[in-house]
Amino acid sequence: MPTALHRLPVEYLIRRSTLRPDGRRFDFYSFAAKPPRPAALDPEPQPEPAAGAVLEADLRELRWHPFFRTWNLVTGDRHLRPTMPDGCPFCPGGAEALSDFQLAAFDNRFPALVPDPPPPSEAAFPAARRPAAGRAEVIVYSPGHEGRFSTLAAEDVLRLLAVWADREREAFLDPAVSFVFPFENRGEDAGNTLSHPHGQLFAFPFLPPRVDEKLASLGAFRERHHDCLFCALGRMEESGPRQLYNGQYVNVYVPDFARFPFETHVTLRAHGQGSLQLPEASAREFAACLLAVSQALDSLFDQPMPGMMCLYPAPRPADGDWHLHAEFLPLMRTAGRLKRLAAVESGLGAVVVDEAPEQMAASLRRVFPPLPWPEVTVRRPPE
Ligand SMILES: [Zn+2]
Ligand SMILES: [Zn+2]
Repeated sequence: MPTALHRLPVEYLIRRSTLRPDGRRFDFYSFAAKPPRPAALDPEPQPEPAAGAVLEADLRELRWHPFFRTWNLVTGDRHLRPTMPDGCPFCPGGAEALSDFQLAAFDNRFPALVPDPPPPSEAAFPAARRPAAGRAEVIVYSPGHEGRFSTLAAEDVLRLLAVWADREREAFLDPAVSFVFPFENRGEDAGNTLSHPHGQLFAFPFLPPRVDEKLASLGAFRERHHDCLFCALGRMEESGPRQLYNGQYVNVYVPDFARFPFETHVTLRAHGQGSLQLPEASAREFAACLLAVSQALDSLFDQPMPGMMCLYPAPRPADGDWHLHAEFLPLMRTAGRLKRLAAVESGLGAVVVDEAPEQMAASLRRVFPPLPWPEVTVRRPPE
């Protein structure tokens, strides 16, 4: 049973913000038993950034896809990213010069979206361009190099959730931002070349297609059935063969419509709770579930499961039916055999699913751990 909340030690999120000479912003997070004095939240004295130092280095713009009717994030220099750098850039003494933090969030050195983008290039109709306004951040989970998401302590995942919530709050201060996307690409097969425990966060100036589709589906379901699609799915799954955990605040299941091997969704039950800024009890359970799912996936074949972890807080403007949810999209079908996005998937967007979602859930249930509850509760300091 989870420990009663009022007996848990309370920690306060502390943020130290700095601006580097190359124009990138770095936020260093730590946690303390006492709320900081208000001054501690203020940015330190900062050097003025060199104007456009990073931003004008190369192409960075949105280009319209006239068939899919969405924007591509086009950059000119991301292919120059170091694949296997000599030393870890996130370790003390590494290229990013991170110091004195428990978690750190900072602007990506090779961003797809930037807060102050250069004007886009000219385009002839029917092509279209927009400035790549937004944020592309790296979030380093710990100063230590070893481990991965599934080996974090439950307390650390709860702290990460508090940092995601702070980034969400921060990103939405920009009126141009429509959607905030914390995510993690796991393993080289998912394009991750740095083993230091970290993820990313994008703040989009438009609704990405999957988010747009989810909104449209929520609206259509509400109109046709006078119900919330997330709530209806939760009721369907909570006693069914694909359920992995049915908690007070959170449901975990392999969806009936799973497309990836062992695809698992972690969904907040509370109708109307779309933000990452969660009440304490739901935050603890949500963090525990994210950790439990990642542990189960890594246990499945006794090796770290390559794939993606995607978080979907409510976009802006919000739909009242949106529930905060996370999707784990693994890439390994059986030990050592990867799911490839081949012609049917890449060329058509249709998916051949290799195993029934009920079988996936049965395999995951065998390795699903008891929920690793964080033994602490994390708060934002009073404003
Ligand atoms: Zn490292
Ligand atoms: Zn609902």
